[in-house]
Amino acid sequence: MSVLLGEVPGCVLAVYAHPDDPDVSCGGTLARWARLGADVHVVICTNGDKGTTDPGVDPTALAERRAQEAKAAGERLGVRHQHVLGYPDGELDNTAELRRELVGWIRRVRPDAVLCPDPTAVFFGEDYYNHRDHRSIGFAVLDALAPAAALPHYFPEEGEAHQAEVALLSGTLEPTVWIDVSATIDDKAAAVACHASQFADGPQWAAEAVRRRAEEDGRRAGVAFAEGFRRLRLVG
Ligand SMILES: [Zn+2]
Repeated sequence: MSVLLGEVPGCVLAVYAHPDDPDVSCGGTLARWARLGADVHVVICTNGDKGTTDPGVDPTALAERRAQEAKAAGERLGVRHQHVLGYPDGELDNTAELRRELVGWIRRVRPDAVLCPDPTAVFFGEDYYNHRDHRSIGFAVLDALAPAAALPHYFPEEGEAHQAEVALLSGTLEPTVWIDVSATIDDKAAAVACHASQFADGPQWAAEAVRRRAEEDGRRAGVAFAEGFRRLRLVG
């Protein structure tokens, strides 16, 4: 049974692969929680330097442009802390080094709730299958959350152990909870539209697509606009 989540975590960490991923995946939720007083941190792992079909685009310039787009989008959502780790686009792997880095973020930020992609969502109908970076970062975050960040003998140099309470996995084929984003759907659409480098059909098209998707999810949740997640309770 699906549940509409009303509670607001005090501290939130969202970890995604590409500069536009947090906004597309959970922008309405991040804006809602920021507006309601949560301390919202976003970590973007890659620099997005391969996100173009144009062979004439310089990857370094693209990475710089995408960092600016992400900054503008984060400001629109009310994200107070945004960090770009700068891994090369398309090359994320669930390695011990990446898990160490993520454990460090979890232990420094000490979030109640962590958001990341659902790495088990691979095929979306006949039209799309999930980017390898999304799958890699989803598993890496889950592995970093539990057990690694919570147990002191994993990466002791990264700080004091921390157990987040809940993980919310976006882009899931099996949502179990919903968050009402009716009050922040305009912020989400505007944040997604900031990533103009990513939309051949124009940022307005992307904003409309995001709105339609949240409207469909809203119907399932019984509200005007919603975002759906697979919830994992990490604490008893
Ligand atoms: Zn992505």
